[in-house]
Amino acid sequence: MFAIIRAVHKWRQLSPNVHHAKKLVAFESSVSFKSDIDWKQSEEYTKDLPDPSLANPYRKAKQICILCKYGIEVDYKNVQLLSQFVSPYTGRLYDKHITGLCETQQKVVEREHRKAIRYHLIPAVYRDVKYHKNPRLFDPTRPQRPNPY
Ligand SMILES: [Zn+2]
Repeated sequence: MFAIIRAVHKWRQLSPNVHHAKKLVAFESSVSFKSDIDWKQSEEYTKDLPDPSLANPYRKAKQICILCKYGIEVDYKNVQLLSQFVSPYTGRLYDKHITGLCETQQKVVEREHRKAIRYHLIPAVYRDVKYHKNPRLFDPTRPQRPNPY
């Protein structure tokens, strides 16, 4: 009894493979190409290939830093521009990964920043962090008395 069940089970396992093999033989006989080279040169294969003359649509856009993009020349006298690359807490220049500048522009900014400090256009010493929460004593934009001059 078990032998019969086992034989039927085995036959069921084998039968799809036999069926596939028959299909494969039928497919191979229907294909007219003799080799892979013939197949790859055929019209049927090449019609779906991408056009090599077209540009790659997945290519990433070239990264360009903001100073190069707008052609801004960094100068030590342009303190307002330089101050945007300086941390207000430490007074140090931000690194390239924060500013997003290219290597050459970052070096130019560093050089001009050093020059601006040397000419005392930018403070070299910044307020310590523990004094950052000091209250403002007065507002210079709103005087208490009118200007006598
Ligand atoms: Zn650049």
